[in-house]
Amino acid sequence: MAFEGHEQILAVQDAPSGLRAWIAIHALDPQPAFGGIRILDYRSERDALFDALRLSRIMTYKCALAGVQGSGAKTVVIANSINDRAAAIRVLGRHIEGLGGIYRAGPDAGFTSEDQQVLMEETQYIAHFGVDGRMQSAGDATAEGAMHGILRALELRSELPVEETTVAIQGLGAVGVSLAKRFIELGARVIGADADSSKIALAQNLGVTIVPPSKILSTSCDVLVPCAMGGTIHDVSIPRIQASIVAGVANNTLGHDSQAALLKENNITFLPDFALNAGALIEGSHNLHTNENSCPKKLAEIGETIANILQRSDDDKLSTIEAAFVLASEKVIATKNH
Ligand code: NAD
Repeated sequence: MAFEGHEQILAVQDAPSGLRAWIAIHALDPQPAFGGIRILDYRSERDALFDALRLSRIMTYKCALAGVQGSGAKTVVIANSINDRAAAIRVLGRHIEGLGGIYRAGPDAGFTSEDQQVLMEETQYIAHFGVDGRMQSAGDATAEGAMHGILRALELRSELPVEETTVAIQGLGAVGVSLAKRFIELGARVIGADADSSKIALAQNLGVTIVPPSKILSTSCDVLVPCAMGGTIHDVSIPRIQASIVAGVANNTLGHDSQAALLKENNITFLPDFALNAGALIEGSHNLHTNENSCPKKLAEIGETIANILQRSDDDKLSTIEAAFVLASEKVIATKNH
């Protein structure tokens, strides 16, 4: 496995539709390489490439920790260069089809169900689109897996039962609102914030207490769940955090991996995002191999993955991110030697 380098990086361009995209395949052993299609605005092709490289690499670690037979990839499409979205998705789909199945594409930030319908007309090599071809609510699988990880961390690191726990969620989108619903059903108090006011009403109806986005990271709570965009936990935000557990759901929750050590110094347990948010990957790979839509037992295993990371972090005096990388690397080596 090309653990640090990348196996393939494809620049995909189509002048008529304005498509400019990168497909980064981090590793191909084991196959397939799984990775979502992210369609966001970028300042430059270089920024988009950097995102594709970083996200595809982390997908390899995510597969290893989740026990998924596959490796990491990511497609990043520069949204602000597109002038005909459907045509752009068609060209992208043909490139994915041309890869012959070594890469299985799924949904990621900015990718809509309309995009999916168009993509599926051009390629069969997709994942997590459901047995009936409709886009699965990947957010539910991610939320379910993250809930198990957070509950296990609470058992190991908190004196409080879940009914007496306050969970604060930054971002009430597909994953955030699904996670909020689960913790409310478990009896926890849930506080939430979203930058988009249209997301607030649904969360309020579920019983979420809403605070302004500027207050959510410093709100008084036991578990803080960054569930919006990555990079919100950094040198400036960490001293303001009141939670004893930060549960990384947003990809690349930390501004930099070294901030896991700063969280540790502040007696805050960080649950690494690439372990905690693997639910959609697990369900997508299960769907691919079995043609079944759901796999609740496999999603629950994220709880044990989190327990193993916390144990390794304690035993070897590592930050939880370092412990997760060590465990993932060991799993890859064990698979190769088997
Ligand atoms: P989403 O786009 O549905 O929701 C994100 C929400 O965050 C939006 O409602 C947005 O308005 C809000 N937001 C953005 N900036 C904010 C801010 N500063 N403060 C408060 N709210 C803010 O995305 P999602 O599918 O729920 O994913 C959430 C995160 O989890 C992303 O980082 C994503 O990469 C990661 N993730 C998602 C999945 C999945 O299955 N959807 C899987 C793995 C990782």
